[in-house]
Amino acid sequence: MVVTRLQTRRDVVRGAAVVAATTLACPSFAQGSARVAVIGGGFGGAACARALRRLDPKLQVTLIEPNKTFTACPFSNEVIAGLRELSEQQFTYDRTAADGVAIVAQVAAKVDAQARMVGLADGSTLAYDRLVLAPGIDMHFDALPGYDEATSAKMPHAWKAGEQTALLRRQIEAMDDGGLVVIAVPAAPLRCPPAPYERASLIAHYLKANKPRSKILVLDAKDNYSQQKLFESAWKELYPGMIERIGLSQGGRVTSVNLATNEIVTDFGNYTAAVANVIPPQKAGRIAEIAGAADRTGWCPIDPVTFASKLVPNIHVVGDAAISGGIPKSASAASAQGKACAASIVNALAGKPADTPRLNGACYNTVAPGYAFSLRGIYQPKDDQYAEAEVTTSPVDAPRELRQREAEQALDWFKSITVDTFG
Ligand code: FAD
Repeated sequence: MVVTRLQTRRDVVRGAAVVAATTLACPSFAQGSARVAVIGGGFGGAACARALRRLDPKLQVTLIEPNKTFTACPFSNEVIAGLRELSEQQFTYDRTAADGVAIVAQVAAKVDAQARMVGLADGSTLAYDRLVLAPGIDMHFDALPGYDEATSAKMPHAWKAGEQTALLRRQIEAMDDGGLVVIAVPAAPLRCPPAPYERASLIAHYLKANKPRSKILVLDAKDNYSQQKLFESAWKELYPGMIERIGLSQGGRVTSVNLATNEIVTDFGNYTAAVANVIPPQKAGRIAEIAGAADRTGWCPIDPVTFASKLVPNIHVVGDAAISGGIPKSASAASAQGKACAASIVNALAGKPADTPRLNGACYNTVAPGYAFSLRGIYQPKDDQYAEAEVTTSPVDAPRELRQREAEQALDWFKSITVDTFG
């Protein structure tokens, strides 16, 4: 049904189903059943939407996502290094629709939390009883002088997969041998904290084979990072002398960029890049701020048991956009949060208390084909935040067979999370 006016709660009680003009699939919902809208069809949102329908097939679940194809970030560093094609990162919502989720291919532009209404980019509206925000991240362009959206078309961040990923790959392929690739890494919190170092490793793999006089400089606004010893030991073994990293206390924090000269500026020096991969500070996807669910940090405070926003009623936040304490912002965490949030919404609608979630996360880092290591964790709410209950990291002194096995497990993980979410 096309929606052209704001719907009232009474419309809803009468069972007037609300589906926007561009709906691709329109399952027949039971009249009067609760309506849950999910904004964002990434790892968190798509997992949540499907889990909602599986847990309660009577629910009217609508997924609002403008892209017909989702492009996944995990394994996108392999695409940049020429080890994989972007098409292998892409997934449709056909299975999600087949599960009975109504897909609205629109940008959510507004949220009226009082009226429980989402305004879509085409001017139509969608009423909800519960809203899940899963918009991932946006770049905090104001936070790095000289770096804005237009600059990112020349100095790609490639921190959202798609055209940015392809652009960085083309730049590295076009670079002369002997050039300097600069990777600028922001302070925490950021999406997938170890991914900048995985990227440095895989670019080094490409350069070693194709442009061996080239170098990579990682300018880092942090002193320490996840799985640091494992990366450092792999770099020594596989790419000696190719990757240099300057941490915060050595002056690694990037303070501005100069597009005209391709210079990256820190307090201690300027670096002229042949290829500049500038990963700026990040924040929750813009719609979270519009909805009033983001606080002054730019991220969304939540109740860790129910994923309910602490700022706006009847809104839940999952995935990278949420403040979730000790859980790294990752696809596995987003997917686990999406499912746990679905369970808490179904319980709440049935008047039952929420179960305390126990979230599993696995984070693999591939530093060369057939060479990977991992961090696996179980996370539980503690003191109003998520905290690590158990964490296992691959040993630093491990035989190559283990690295090989973990590289295979990494691919298996990607296959299973994408099948679970989209397949
Ligand atoms: P996303 O997956 O980004 O989904 C957000 C969705 O919301 C998007 O589809 C977007 O189009 C949509 N959206 C945004 N705003 C709106 C709006 N207003 N209206 C409608 N839709 C909207 N994680 C791992 O677990 N393992 C890895 O190996 C790994 N590797 C990574 C490598 C790189 C280089 C990067 C950058 C990230 C990596 N990650 C990895 C992290 C992972 O990609 C993210 O943590 C994960 O995608 C977060 O899921 P999400 O659902 O919060 O956001």
